[in-house]
Amino acid sequence: MKNFDFDLTELCSRGVRGLKPYEPGKPIAELQRELGIRDVIKLASNENPLGPSPKALAAIRNALAGLAAYPDGQAYELRQAIAEKHRIDPRCITLGDGSDQNLEFLARAFLEPGCNAVMSHHAFAVYAIVTQAVGAEIRFAAAHPATHPHMPYGHNPDAMLAAIDKHTRMVCIANPNNPTGTWLDRTSLLHFLEQVPQRVLVVVDEAYIEYVSEPQYPDCSQWLGDFPNLVVTRTFSKAYGLAGLRAGYSLSHRAVAELLNRIRQPFNVNNLAQAGALAALSDTQHLEKTLAVNQAGMRQFEQGLRTLNLSWIPSIGNFLTVDFQRPARAIYEALLREGVIVRPLQNYAMPNHLRITIGLPDQNIRLLQALKKVLAA
Ligand SMILES: *Cc1c(COP(=O)(O)O)cnc(C)c1O
Repeated sequence: MKNFDFDLTELCSRGVRGLKPYEPGKPIAELQRELGIRDVIKLASNENPLGPSPKALAAIRNALAGLAAYPDGQAYELRQAIAEKHRIDPRCITLGDGSDQNLEFLARAFLEPGCNAVMSHHAFAVYAIVTQAVGAEIRFAAAHPATHPHMPYGHNPDAMLAAIDKHTRMVCIANPNNPTGTWLDRTSLLHFLEQVPQRVLVVVDEAYIEYVSEPQYPDCSQWLGDFPNLVVTRTFSKAYGLAGLRAGYSLSHRAVAELLNRIRQPFNVNNLAQAGALAALSDTQHLEKTLAVNQAGMRQFEQGLRTLNLSWIPSIGNFLTVDFQRPARAIYEALLREGVIVRPLQNYAMPNHLRITIGLPDQNIRLLQALKKVLAA
């Protein structure tokens, strides 16, 4: 193939030039190809180990017959169901091909060169990527220190407030945060929202909300009426077990949603995703089972990690981030050779940590045994 006789990156926008792409968890099939082993488990992407609701699967099978037709660009039924769930005007909803796309819509609609978005160190990586991609400045606020008694590495709302300046258009908060599992309680998040100027959007990413049982944890969707600059994102990828289907949404003031929907391609959420997400919403039984499996798995992990003398960041999600107190890359790689995929966190400036998704009981045992073997070696 003939090469360009100039530096191609000079043709692309400045934001893209400086972009470091997102590094997803290693797919099972990739490790199987690389190591030639068959029995691989993946506890690396916070997926639901039970899979999707059987009702969602049935609805998806049903929807296959309609694949020749374009999707409903308004996703009428799904939007109606989401509106009912949140008791909100359907016009406040923006549907995404996964909630990552909702984050991208927010960046594309509200950020540009010369302005900035504020986020915490160790926050979910997509916020920085979508900000950088449109050429806006990323302003990192210091996180709580590793020695913080309750929320090591967690978002520090005071530091985030202090980072806001006249060029700030957006603040991103993951509650709870991935990869730390830390969270902001009702009082501190409410106080934060009251302090942020109305011209700054506050995006609260609630990707893991279904897993949370802490009484002081706030469901921010209930505050949308009080703060016109509040945007809440939700996803079907985590507790609903539909990460491969790609469906998520944001809830916001109608005027914000109107702007976001201007850049949304009309068919961004496909027929199967609309049908599957709709059915998943109504299957509370599967959701309850999911939460029970996660709670039991969390206890199993904590007990196992304690036995191994390891420490971790307390998490309210479906994952735990373990602190090995030395560079963890070699442990990650040794676990791969045991057929267990977890998530290294160098990209989050946490090179001594690995993030592990809570799995089914036997998967958790397998991980703990592999960890024991690897650490003894
Ligand atoms: C997984 C995750 C998401 C969303 O993923 P989608 O599959 O794009 O909906 C969003 N935010 C956080 C913090 C996540 O961990």
